[in-house]
Amino acid sequence: MVRAMRAVAWFLVFAAGCVSGSPGGIQKRWRGQPVDAAASRADAIEVAQPPTWRTIGKSVEGRPLRVLRLGHGPRKALWVGGIHGDEREGAIATAELPAAFLATPGAADKVTLTILEDANPDGSAAGTRANKNGVDLNRNYPAKNYLPGQGRGDKALDQPEAKALHDLVLAVKPDVLIVAHAWRGDTFINFDGPAEQLAERFGRASGMRVKPSDKIAPTPGSLGSWVGHTLRWPILTLEYLRGSDRQENWQKTKAAILAVLVGD
Ligand SMILES: [Zn+2]
Repeated sequence: MVRAMRAVAWFLVFAAGCVSGSPGGIQKRWRGQPVDAAASRADAIEVAQPPTWRTIGKSVEGRPLRVLRLGHGPRKALWVGGIHGDEREGAIATAELPAAFLATPGAADKVTLTILEDANPDGSAAGTRANKNGVDLNRNYPAKNYLPGQGRGDKALDQPEAKALHDLVLAVKPDVLIVAHAWRGDTFINFDGPAEQLAERFGRASGMRVKPSDKIAPTPGSLGSWVGHTLRWPILTLEYLRGSDRQENWQKTKAAILAVLVGD
């Protein structure tokens, strides 16, 4: 209950746009609530700081790989905001997701949500698909179909960004993982592993059609191949339309993202 109150209290601060709000301001916000006043103040002081991004690793160029953890429920969900640096169409969704998740009734009690802001910050800074070493991080995972070679690394996980996300996936053990991408001239939801029902649900809530991996070109060493087919964990690959409006993408997919992250 206390944890739920903290989440709600933090959301109020977040929603008010004063993420660095002073403890005094929060105490005022909570004064008059129908709860024990002293306990309320103690809680208010504890929640003075919003959940903070922590760094789980560094890119080739030294940029932080940042993770935010929200909620405390038994269901484990992982959102990856991007892995191809020239596909940032899901960036607003990543930015908006924390507040939307905490505003969803019951979500924080049901789900522990981990958000990786961007698995390829060097690529995002440069506007390139690959990382600074010219490796497509989405071909650098230890899937059964991994192929070493130019653009895929000399061996799986030889890129620091890929290794950091690999370790995060194993630590979280997600019941659902969503990774945001963009596709030139098309938009769809792709899935790997035991994720067909999640993909169908995402499709119904967003209007996006479901496209299984066997309907697109092989992706050796991709995150989807490793998580979905090697680990046999559910993963959805969200393909926004390349070049589309980021805010519109969020509005279109917000309900679907929350539905599959929070579950039934
Ligand atoms: Zn992509």
